[in-house]
Amino acid sequence: MNSQNTQEKPANFIRNIINKDLSSGKHNSVITRFPPEPNGYLHIGHAKSICLNFGTARDYKGFCNLRFDDTNPAKEDIEYVNSIKKDIEWLGFNWDGEVKFSSSYFDIFYQYAEELISKGLSYVCFLSSHETREHRGNLKEPGKNSPYRDTSIEANLTLFRKMKAGGFKEGECVLRAKIDMSSSFMCMRDPTLYRIRFETHHQTNDAWCIYPMYDFAHCLGDAVEGVTHSLCTLEFQDNRRIYDWILENLDDFNLPNRPHQYEFSRLNLEYATTSKRKLKILVDKNHVSGWNDPRMPTISGLRRRGYTPDSIREFCERIGVSKVNSISDISILESSIRDDLNNSAPRSMAVINPIKLVIENYPNDKIEPLKAPVHPQNEAMGTREIFFSREIYIDKDDFLEVAPNNKYKRLAINKEVRLRNSYVVKASHFDSDNDGNIKTVYCTYDPDTLGKNPADGRKIKGVIHFVESSRAINAEFRIYDRLFLDSNPAKFDDLSISINPNSLEIKNGFVEPSLANAEVETAYQFEREGYFCRDSESEGLVFNKTVGLRDTWNQ
Ligand code: ATP
Ligand code: MG
Repeated sequence: MNSQNTQEKPANFIRNIINKDLSSGKHNSVITRFPPEPNGYLHIGHAKSICLNFGTARDYKGFCNLRFDDTNPAKEDIEYVNSIKKDIEWLGFNWDGEVKFSSSYFDIFYQYAEELISKGLSYVCFLSSHETREHRGNLKEPGKNSPYRDTSIEANLTLFRKMKAGGFKEGECVLRAKIDMSSSFMCMRDPTLYRIRFETHHQTNDAWCIYPMYDFAHCLGDAVEGVTHSLCTLEFQDNRRIYDWILENLDDFNLPNRPHQYEFSRLNLEYATTSKRKLKILVDKNHVSGWNDPRMPTISGLRRRGYTPDSIREFCERIGVSKVNSISDISILESSIRDDLNNSAPRSMAVINPIKLVIENYPNDKIEPLKAPVHPQNEAMGTREIFFSREIYIDKDDFLEVAPNNKYKRLAINKEVRLRNSYVVKASHFDSDNDGNIKTVYCTYDPDTLGKNPADGRKIKGVIHFVESSRAINAEFRIYDRLFLDSNPAKFDDLSISINPNSLEIKNGFVEPSLANAEVETAYQFEREGYFCRDSESEGLVFNKTVGLRDTWNQ
């Protein structure tokens, strides 16, 4: 990707903060981080955060760390670590240096926890989770202090070391910050900093049985790495107070240039969910074929569907960055890929619902090779070879016995149309099967119309696509509809209520021979049909529909 001039980018509140911090001298470079928890695949919401974190750092010639926020071994897996790295690279971003893990700082975090204890700012608490909830109070009532709040510093240090050494059972105690049980911010009522988990961790194996909570690990990870601007989503707005409290109470980090957290609104997308937990349920309950099912709003699903990295970055650019929560219109995502593919996708012809067209005045044994442009607006993309003969396939939807009105531009008995990249034909009669389904249409062609209009001035209104029958290749087409029936499925806790039972339709038809070796995950425009790309997980020629040629949802 080209490095871009900061001036070209539209301003957003994050860039305004950065500009101010650079001009005041608070920071002289920009360091951001993207902190995924390796407990699922990345989705389109993460793409927004990736574009913001990596993109902002790049624009200011700073850098962005990829730091796995791996503090919950029970839910994490190395499979997710690998898929996340792959997806970020595919989106076109590079992290600075080695991949980082919160778990590689566990020793350092532990030392800082001891520092807080030594300052009388943290204590080991033995309240059960039920008692802790009762002590917390609620928005109207202040909480009550834990009876363990006044344990001496020495005793707390001993207890914390015993926790680390495995001397307590899971759930028996936690380390808490001693902040304020009557704070109007619930998260400041002595939040938990460490808990006990006897789980094998994918990076540290069995070295630890105490794990830091997000609120403790995150600010410290940022501080250790020298992150300047820590960008996260709005649900962490209140937690910013813990972030600041922890750093301000540690001697190493209570400095003007310490990291600060800034919150932006998360991306929600119509007809999709951006909850990893809910996406995992869709996978586990086989509502989709996997995390990379082309109907999933995951990066890997969009990629398998034919979305390009450019189109996803462009989508993130179009939705912008703000502090207002909203649900983005799916048509913004679709127009981003459509605009990209309209410029770049090679053209070809595929017949999805085939019927035969027999050209009765064309020689029986002749196969005529023809040249067609790969892209009508871009000559540099060259030409491809297509074929024409007495028998070709056209789409069932392109023929009606009787034209319904004057605007009808397809084939009908006694009507003429142009076959794309080829001749003008006129239908004369047709055969149907016993159920009345049209099987074969018969026509004649005008040999003097290849690449030119009829000499006598007849106007040919319509163009339809076709594939020559002897060279046609069988292909499967997977036509996708929205995965959910409701535009805001997030409102259901059980998403299966809103699943669209017809979100996948499989069709068998034909493609032109130039697609025999179609590359996977590279979209083509099937003329008049839409954009399709070859599926990466199937044998043979299977094409996923990326998006239609125009927005038909609202019609
Ligand atoms: P979890 O509930 O498992 O924490 P998460 O969606 O927060 O899920 P993370 O892996 O923690 O997932 O997210 C990594 C980063 O991506 C975080 O900084 C998070 O704020 C950001 N992010 C996650 N979802 C979205 C979203 N929908 N829009 C924008 N940013 C998001
Ligand atoms: Mg998270």
